[in-house]
Amino acid sequence: MAELFYDDDADLSIIQSKKVAVVGYGSQGHAHSLNLRDSGVDVTVGLREGSASRAKAENQGLKVATVAEAVAGADVVVILAPDQVQRHVYRDEIEPNLKDGAALVFGHGFNIRFGYIKPAAGHDVFMVAPKGPGHLVRREYVDGRGVPVIVAVEQDASGSAWALALSYAKAIGGLRAAGIKTTFTEETETDLFGEQAVLCGGVSQLIQYGFETLTEAGYQPEVAYFEVLHELKLIVDLIWEGGITKQRWSVSDTAEYGDYVSGPRVITPDVKANMGQVLADIQSGAFAERFIADQDAGAPEFTALREAGQNHPIEPVGRELRKLFAWVKPSDSDYTEGSAA
Ligand code: NDP
Ligand code: MG
Ligand code: MG
Repeated sequence: MAELFYDDDADLSIIQSKKVAVVGYGSQGHAHSLNLRDSGVDVTVGLREGSASRAKAENQGLKVATVAEAVAGADVVVILAPDQVQRHVYRDEIEPNLKDGAALVFGHGFNIRFGYIKPAAGHDVFMVAPKGPGHLVRREYVDGRGVPVIVAVEQDASGSAWALALSYAKAIGGLRAAGIKTTFTEETETDLFGEQAVLCGGVSQLIQYGFETLTEAGYQPEVAYFEVLHELKLIVDLIWEGGITKQRWSVSDTAEYGDYVSGPRVITPDVKANMGQVLADIQSGAFAERFIADQDAGAPEFTALREAGQNHPIEPVGRELRKLFAWVKPSDSDYTEGSAA
């Protein structure tokens, strides 16, 4: 059983006595900054020159500085810029300005696990990673609750990195739900695997194949959209509330029986073997290398794949249908690019 932490296990005053710099004010950055501030912590947001995020942070009453200035004044530096830019920001602006003994905090283990950032031995290095998108992390905090976090210490230079990590986790509201003890390696590898094999990659491909199978067999695309995409949310909500068992309890006996006999025909054991290969590429660093090499080259592969995905025939069908849905507010469907998993 994993080791769990709650509010009573953490001392908020530890982080309240530190100056904290949060680098990045996106999904996670805004949530961490505002929750820390509202927990009585001295926060400065570090952003690059001309940053589009600057006005957002200032409008919330936060102090904003350049990354170099924010880091130079900080006891705790939280790196919440996108994973693929972190090592550049670290090398150019964080490392040269980092105070002796300052702690480094991550929201995901990617750059440490794959060696893109190698902090000097004198720094505590820990992770507090909410298991939910930043906007939920902020909303739950405001409502007096919290999104569970996972907590890991990679480097305990001070001997008190765990106490600091738990204090930080409490300040962003995570320990109101629970903190789960993990390692950078476990968090990084399982996070990448989950999003690739199941949550993002697996589900997207499953939906597309389902839609293609129905429309190629001559069924109407609008009807196919409802059956293989729209209803997914209702099913996932049931699974989320009460496991696969609750979903099977709630659907008709026909659907439940079809689940048992046809699920294993669609998702065959070789899918599990493929998952093993995806995991092996994550563990060996091959996935990270491919992602970073493409990003460093200006992301040609990423951009082409994104475009191909946006052009899949299910997308225009969905766009038209969602206009008819009274329950989807315009603001929900006009997403902007970004990651949440
Ligand atoms: P975002 O893509 O939302 O971060 C964007 C922010 O980073 C913006 O404020 C942007 O500023 C800033 N930024 C971009 N480039 C630079 C730069 N070169 N220097 C300084 N700031 C820069 O990131 P996320 O919040 O999605 O991810 C942050 C971390 O949290 C990652 O490690 C991620 O894996 C992890 N995480 C994310 C989750 C999520 O919900 N999204 C969930 C759990 C963990 P500008 O306006 O200048 O572009
Ligand atoms: Mg149905
Ligand atoms: Mg992820």
